[in-house]
Amino acid sequence: MFSGMNFITRIFLSISLTFAFSSVSYSQSDTLLSLSMSENIDDLTYMTKEIMNRLGIKIRPNVYLDDPISFTFDDFKNKGNIGANFVVTNAIYPNDSASLRFYKKPEIVMKKFFYERLKKGIKKDTSNYFFYILGINIIIHELTHYLQLTYPSTEYADSLDFSTLEKRREYIKRPSEFEAYAVGYYYFLYYFRRPLLERIVISDLKNVIKMKIIINEADKLMYPASGEIFPDISH
Ligand SMILES: [Zn+2]
Repeated sequence: MFSGMNFITRIFLSISLTFAFSSVSYSQSDTLLSLSMSENIDDLTYMTKEIMNRLGIKIRPNVYLDDPISFTFDDFKNKGNIGANFVVTNAIYPNDSASLRFYKKPEIVMKKFFYERLKKGIKKDTSNYFFYILGINIIIHELTHYLQLTYPSTEYADSLDFSTLEKRREYIKRPSEFEAYAVGYYYFLYYFRRPLLERIVISDLKNVIKMKIIINEADKLMYPASGEIFPDISH
């Protein structure tokens, strides 16, 4: 039923602009993969795949059939806290199979605020460091939606509501969002809580538990006044 269908999928990430600045750790580790700072979309796609593999998240088998993914910005007027969208205007479904889908003209559209900070880099302006890492985390979140086998949720920004912790929990628990948050936040913790991330990654916990802890820990840095997304990680 999906074949030949014009389809628009938009995935949204909400990141509020109020953050707790946290201490930065630079200890090196092979365990975590070597994640670099780069705003190049090919580098970011490579890093996203590596983190997905590390967390056991499945990648679409037909990614190689996609058009190249493009990266641009919009001002997202009246869309409040949206950081970026992954937009597909035409998905192809061989044998009517969602798992075999591949994308024509896939595009990541980022909020101008973050896009500018990402493009500005950090070499000349080290005060941009936090938003630069945050911006890369947002792109990696959207690239996870682009790569993931899990079918993405299709909510539109206007219908999203992050006004309460309960609503944010509901959103993050969606399977496609759970994966995208875990991967983006893995990158975020790599730069802001590396020893903690290392302890999580080398533990023998199941991947789903590791992902819940990663989300809890990164979310705590971004929303210090909020409660935990997963208060009981075993559920
Ligand atoms: Zn998302």
